[in-house]
Order: sequence, then C-alpha cells, then structure tokens
Amino acid sequence: MTTIHPIKVPLPFPVKWINCFYVRDSVPTLIDTGIHSDDCLQAVRSAIAATGDALEDLRRVIVTHGHVDHMGLAGEIARICGAEVFIHAWDESKTTVVDPEHVSETRRKYALFLQEAGVPDATASELVDLVVTRLESLCRPMSHVTALHGDEVFRFDDLDLTVVHAPGHTPGSVCLFDARRGHLYSGDSLIEELTFSPATDTDGTDNGRVYQSLTECRHTWNRLSELNVRKVFPGHGRAYSNLRERIQHLRAFHEHRRCEILSVLETRRSAQGSQSGFTRLELARRLFPTMKEIEVYYRITAVRAHLEVLEAEGLVSSTPGDSGLVYSLCRG
Ligand SMILES: [Zn+2]
Ligand SMILES: [Zn+2]
Repeated sequence: MTTIHPIKVPLPFPVKWINCFYVRDSVPTLIDTGIHSDDCLQAVRSAIAATGDALEDLRRVIVTHGHVDHMGLAGEIARICGAEVFIHAWDESKTTVVDPEHVSETRRKYALFLQEAGVPDATASELVDLVVTRLESLCRPMSHVTALHGDEVFRFDDLDLTVVHAPGHTPGSVCLFDARRGHLYSGDSLIEELTFSPATDTDGTDNGRVYQSLTECRHTWNRLSELNVRKVFPGHGRAYSNLRERIQHLRAFHEHRRCEILSVLETRRSAQGSQSGFTRLELARRLFPTMKEIEVYYRITAVRAHLEVLEAEGLVSSTPGDSGLVYSLCRG
C-alpha cells in the first residue's frame, strides 16, 4: 500500500525547515529534498530508514520548484541512487545557474537586476557575491533532469499525483494533487504562515515571453481554488485545510501592498520641485526601512512584482535615470 511520509528537513535559514515527502511505494519517490548539506541528507536518510526502506532505493525525486531549499540536494541524491529528477521546464534553467560555465552569466543577470533597481555598484557587487555564493554552497549541480510541463500523472501502486503547474512563486512552480483524497502538496505556492513574495528571480522573462509573477500568482490562485482540496501540505509550516481562506488572505495582502506602493509614489507627484519618482530601491526602503544585506535583494523583487503589474495597467511608468529605472505615477 502506498503511504506518504512527511519529513521535516532542517534548514540554516530563518525558515527553520522544509517539509519533504517520502512516497513509500514500489516506485519509492521523494518530493523535494532540502539543501545540499550533510544535515539535510542525514534527515532524509533517517526518515526513509524509519519506514523500513533505504534512501539508496529511491527511484524518483520530484522537485516542486527551482529554489535551493527544494532542489539543492537532488543532484547528490541522484548521484547516490540514480533516481530520476523531475522539475518543471520553466525552472529547469535554475538547476544549472551554479554550473561553472553559467556562473558568470548568473552574476551578470543579478548585477543588471540590482543596477536597474538603483543599488549602488559597490553594494550591488557585495549582494551578487552573497546571492551567488549562497547558491553555489547550497545546491549541487545536476547532470540530468526530466522536464515537467503540467498535467502529468505520477502513478503509484494505489494513488495518483497529478502535476498542477502553478506559476507565480517561480515560473516553474508545481503542486502535486491527489484528487481522490483531496490532498495538495503545494511547495511554496501556498503556505499558511508565510507570504512569500512572488518572483524571487532576476529574470522576468521565460521562454521569450514576459513573465509577470504577481499576475501569474493570481491565475494560479484561481486555478487552485477550483480544485476540490481538503488538505494542503505546504513546503514550509504545518498542513492546513482552509485553502480558499488562505487565498483570500493572500489577495488582501497584495492589495494592501499595492496601495502602499501607490501612496509612496503619490508623495512625489504632489511634492513640488522634487525628483519625479522613485527607484525600486528607494521604494523598497520606504516600505521596509530596516532591510539589510540579502533582504535588500528580496525586498526589491517584492516591489518589482507590483511595479510590473502597475506599469502594465498604465498606472505607473518608468524611465531610465542616473541610478536605475525611475518609477512615477502616470498623469490623470
Ligand atoms: Zn521557494
Ligand atoms: Zn521554500
């Protein structure tokens, strides 16, 4: 009989652990992995051993999205047991960002993102070092992954998990849905206690199309609301049952942030003779005055997620300034 065992894997981050899931079955499968560290490997290994199985027998690793806490250990596990690693095609490029041949491109992208945001060069280069060093130390490169596209069904002895593409948190985020039980394994797409900003990515485009993370989040929330979900098993925090309530909360949270950004922009429209707008860094500082170090990067991405929607709606426009793009309210 197929059983699914949650594994609480420790993380050296403010988010103290990730929930991975071991699917005990004739095709033993792991959902998400933790970072590439001895502690994570040990936690996964002993949790699987506690069921009477062995990590070496894993045949599949399904990664809900391309963030290091969810996929950092996948390369090492694949090396140990030859398991096939699955990730959505739109996050596949994240599995190679720390490969030696891609590191300089990764650095260039982050540097450009920070420069556009108005971060001074010296601080930007410190932040790029922080982000890239962190990625390199937490993620083992993967020699091969199998791309998912959504709607695939992973068949187990007596349950099926359907891949639900859930872009937003990252372009290639997926949830896994056990329709018979109404269980949704949601990765970072829907967590009860945490509201992650969408698009902690430097690259707003994917496969040549513009990727508007917050708009994608809203579509994803609509799609997930339509599923008959009885229980959500998130990537962090506890399992919960009130999915629609959680989605309502997220909508309200982002509506509030949108209003905050618009009111900060309003202060410069009404101020006579001052600079006409704000860079993303300046907006982030107004909203999160105590931010520092790597948080600066995440806060800028949070602000950008809203600015790109406001720009697409014609409420805000941006122009290149001396230090990055300058955003202001459109007249009228
Ligand atoms: Zn994530
Ligand atoms: Zn996560």
